[in-house]
Amino acid sequence: TEEQLRQALKMESVGRLAGGVAHDFNNMLTVILGQAQLAQMKITPDHELWQSLEQITTAAQRSGQITRQLLAFSRKEIIDPRPVDLNQLVGEAQKTLLRLIEESITLNFCPGADLWSVKMDPSQVDQVLVNLAVNARDAMPDGGLLSIHTENVHLSQKSCQYLRDALPGDYVQLVVSDTGVGMGEEVLEHIFEPFYTTKGLGKGTGLGLATVYGIVRQNGGFINVYSEVGHGTSFKIYLPRSSSAAPAEAQRRCTDVRIGT
Ligand code: ADP
Repeated sequence: TEEQLRQALKMESVGRLAGGVAHDFNNMLTVILGQAQLAQMKITPDHELWQSLEQITTAAQRSGQITRQLLAFSRKEIIDPRPVDLNQLVGEAQKTLLRLIEESITLNFCPGADLWSVKMDPSQVDQVLVNLAVNARDAMPDGGLLSIHTENVHLSQKSCQYLRDALPGDYVQLVVSDTGVGMGEEVLEHIFEPFYTTKGLGKGTGLGLATVYGIVRQNGGFINVYSEVGHGTSFKIYLPRSSSAAPAEAQRRCTDVRIGT
């Protein structure tokens, strides 16, 4: 639709602009960081400027993280879409996800039976999972449940009426849900826009969900979001079934990793 095209063009130009700025910015940050560290080497911790230099270093490092994220977002990465088994990839990503979330969050993965394969670059699957997990973590400061499940779904013409961006066909559904703070209508409307964030200065970049959206659309899929303030959020990602099967078989058991405290 026209709206989608507009969104894609916006992402493209914003991405290119951000990449250029981030690149130049990164060069200058290297100078700031280098000089602050050089100056610090000439004094001892009891010097009156030590704390100032310390703060400059921390701020420059944090800025460096943001510019690196911007660069990752704008870079046209070489991708290699191939038939993959989402159960296997989610299974393999679990360790990384556990490291991202807090102690008080339980990660539950429920792989769907006889899952169809989808055509996608495996690193894109990781990117989607990591971005959604980071958001779920931030939405559950007091702990909770992060659950991931997969399932084969067939969408009829009729069922598509109720799903935004949906076309009839066979899909693998990847659902990532949390029991966090949830979102109101006014936030939900903007979440996929680049640079939209409610996380406050220096915390969010607003690029996580824009990246997820871009990856899913690029692979012919779509996303539906359900959220209730105070109760939690569920991201339902639909990826088209691949006509060829993925090479490997994966285990199909629910795993409850880390019980919340
Ligand atoms: P960032 O995480 O840097 O803020 P994102 O694009 O990933 O950027 O998310 C945009 C905004 O969407 C967040 O700032 C937050 O307000 C909202 N959001 C995303 N995921 C969730 C979630 N699981 N629960 C509640 N709010 C969320």
